Amino acid sequence: MEDTALLGDHPALDLLNTVVRTDGELVDRWRSDADVLHWLAGAGAGVLPEPFGGPAPAGLLDMARALREVVRQLVMDRKAGKRPDVRALNAVLAEGPRHLELAWQDDGALTLAERYTGDLPRRLLAPLAERAAELIATGDFALVRKCEDEQCVLWFLDRTKSHRRRWCSMALCGNRNKVASFRQRRQQDG
Ligand SMILES: [Zn+2]
Repeated sequence: MEDTALLGDHPALDLLNTVVRTDGELVDRWRSDADVLHWLAGAGAGVLPEPFGGPAPAGLLDMARALREVVRQLVMDRKAGKRPDVRALNAVLAEGPRHLELAWQDDGALTLAERYTGDLPRRLLAPLAERAAELIATGDFALVRKCEDEQCVLWFLDRTKSHRRRWCSMALCGNRNKVASFRQRRQQDG
């Protein structure tokens, strides 16, 4: 099966897409704290607050799942044109205090790094919560869409020039639906 990890084209939507439907059943790709840490590390630049060397902290899975459902509700409400309740996400944002720090890089460059000072595991989810808040506040929800396949539960941000993206991916849903509509047309023609 194609890797669905980054099909959402936005970390907050990739977060929702960690639940997939496989053979009719909803499947959570996260089974452990380590799964979540691994996902955060692969979720795009800056989603993991710093190179995190330690083992995944206990409680990360539960906290990440809770954040995922908070974000899912916000995305669905915004998509439906409703006024969402933002308190739950604000509570997560409040748990990941951040400051800037000047840091010398190995190549001699001086950079400005963001440091998170909250407790583990909250700190590890803080940048993701911030990216989700950005999307909820400033995202164009005409371009935030669920895959058109009725069985598919994946979301994406349509960054194509034409803004006509319809599927989570051609390989997963696009081709299957094209074949289905081709068959339907042929039956109608015949
Ligand atoms: Zn799909």
